[in-house]
Amino acid sequence: MQDANCIFCRIVSGKTKARIVRENDHALAFLDAFPLSPGHTLVVPKIHYSKIQDMDKKYCSAVFSLTCELAAILETTIEVSASTIAIHNGKDAGQEVPHVHIHIVPRSINDGGGPIHSMFNSRPKLNEEEIDLLADKMRKGLSM
Ligand code: 5GP
Ligand code: ZN
Repeated sequence: MQDANCIFCRIVSGKTKARIVRENDHALAFLDAFPLSPGHTLVVPKIHYSKIQDMDKKYCSAVFSLTCELAAILETTIEVSASTIAIHNGKDAGQEVPHVHIHIVPRSINDGGGPIHSMFNSRPKLNEEEIDLLADKMRKGLSM
């Protein structure tokens, strides 16, 4: 369940070097090679999944649990008071490496980054009825 052409699979199997900081049975955490801030960490499942919805539940749990541990550890080791935790879930959302990974980016006030809302220049103008319809559609889809 590894992809020989995937850089994160190669890190998991030890074929490519990375600064591994912690792991559990099904997930691995290592430093991003091109950090957005000091301590920028990536958490990946130990087998190749492209999107989070493809992951087996035990991998979901392992990845999220390791992310929670790292978020806490980063605040004490890097001495920051916050972090931005993000997933590019698919190419159209900005995912460049097609192996699930959670970014943990240590944050501090005046670090030049913004909230998730700053990623978008405009918002769709949806009225109450349109939002209700979307909620209905999603509930129906989720109950299938
Ligand atoms: P994406 O844009 O797919 O969400 O993020 C991929 C991340 O992987 C980027 O932040 C990038 O800096 C990081 N990255 C790409 N290649 C390597 C690598 O070979 N080693 C490590 N440690 N990080 C990498
Ligand atoms: Zn992979």
